[in-house]
Amino acid sequence: MEIINDKNCSWINDLNLRTNIKVLNFKEECDWLIIGAGYTGLSAARKLGQLHPTKNIIIIDAQLAGEGASGRNSGYLVDTTLNDGFTSNKELENYKKKVDVYKLGIECVKKFIKEYQVDCDWNECGKYFASSKYEDKKVLKDFSKTLLKLGFENHLLSNSDLSKKLGTNFYNVGLYTKGGILLHPSKLVRAMIDTLPKNVQLFENSSLLNWKKNNDIIHCKFKHGSIFSKKIIFATNGFLKSLGIKANYNFPLTLTASMTRTLTDEEFKSIGEPKEWGVLPVRPMGATIRMTKDRRILIRNTAEIYSPLKMSQSALDKRSIKQKMGIKKRFPQLSSDIIQSTWSGIVSRTRNSSQIFQKIDDNIFVAGCYNGSGIGVGTLFGEQIAIKASNEHTKEIEIIEARNKVTWLPPQPFLNLGVKTRLIYERFIAKSEI
Ligand SMILES: Cc1cc2nc3c(=O)[nH]c(=O)nc-3n(C[C@H](O)[C@H](O)[C@H](O)COP(=O)(O)OP(=O)(O)OC[C@H]3O[C@@H](n4cnc5c(N)ncnc54)[C@H](O)[C@@H]3O)c2cc1C
Repeated sequence: MEIINDKNCSWINDLNLRTNIKVLNFKEECDWLIIGAGYTGLSAARKLGQLHPTKNIIIIDAQLAGEGASGRNSGYLVDTTLNDGFTSNKELENYKKKVDVYKLGIECVKKFIKEYQVDCDWNECGKYFASSKYEDKKVLKDFSKTLLKLGFENHLLSNSDLSKKLGTNFYNVGLYTKGGILLHPSKLVRAMIDTLPKNVQLFENSSLLNWKKNNDIIHCKFKHGSIFSKKIIFATNGFLKSLGIKANYNFPLTLTASMTRTLTDEEFKSIGEPKEWGVLPVRPMGATIRMTKDRRILIRNTAEIYSPLKMSQSALDKRSIKQKMGIKKRFPQLSSDIIQSTWSGIVSRTRNSSQIFQKIDDNIFVAGCYNGSGIGVGTLFGEQIAIKASNEHTKEIEIIEARNKVTWLPPQPFLNLGVKTRLIYERFIAKSEI
């Protein structure tokens, strides 16, 4: 199994190239092994390093650390979400459990950036849920009532309010929620790499090929080496299924996003010089679109079943055209050739939108499946799974474990067939919003 990501992602390319990359090409032994170096794995490594300063801890990734979904997402640290179809009061209790976890996630990232003085373009500017369809007002009104019941400040917005804030006339109804943060995802994950504790070794470009447990020791085989560990944490998110972890409970989805170059002064003036903002769609397959603080526009309007290992440049080019159209429809005054980069990334989905946070066997733990809210929840789950694996307990673990457990998925080919059908339907009802 080899993960080959495109090198296009603007967020990643904003940063300096890393040096001193260590590849595993020998036999190693350790007390703790973490597979996957995104927000989850790096947060687990940080916490384990703090809890066990004398132990030997290894974190390892198939590609460069932080260059999976963690370095290439849209940068919304969310306090609430609408995109999994929640709209009524019936499930208020479940929804509360979900947002309780989001709240802990935000606190966890906030604590990390404060403690390590991280600059990740943190902006507590809230976020918008918006649609061009007037009929979506009902969904937003219901959602607004639910949020008010749970104490989340929010305001319904009209076309003219939205066009003043966003610089586009496209949206007719919207809901602004005050909580929620926009940030630079790659700067955040880079900081997690740079601040790994001294007793944590990082290996990169070293893919786990297979693993087994023998007499309480976990034996992991990589392309050019192997590791024997007493305990292991799987933090591979969209790749859990391909490693056979909770394989009947999660599946990968491939997302693609594009980013424009920085708008010129003239272009920026033509859209009313808005402050940084982020819009999430009301219909699940609609576009996520964001104006960055340095005047670039990011758009993400695809989600599909695709090989999680690689997307070819020609496939990316096709998706880039969709993203160009998405920008054009919202900002017709901007020229058509402003997209600078298009990239793909892998997320993990579960059937009921719950996450996985579990001991799956003695000394074997897993955390993942954030359904698009992995910045906060991944950071939180990484830290808390390390605590759980150290046989300690926290109020955070209690809140995480109070959520519904993930539900079983049908085997292939029924799974792909079901997901594809659902995505086609969602795409159809969101077609004006893409
Ligand atoms: C385009 C896009 C937009 C998104 N937007 C948002 C957003 O706005 N807000 C939000 O909260 N979330 C968003 N997400 C989701 C978010 O990025 C993820 O939930 C989060 O990054 C998950 O972090 P993680 O550390 O669990 O997984 P990842 O960052 O995916 O890390 C897993 C790592 O495991 C490694 N790995 C896999 N298999 C192996 C193996 N066999 N051996 C060794 N290593 C392996 C991978 O290389 C990878 O680096 C988005 C995702 C994408 C792709």
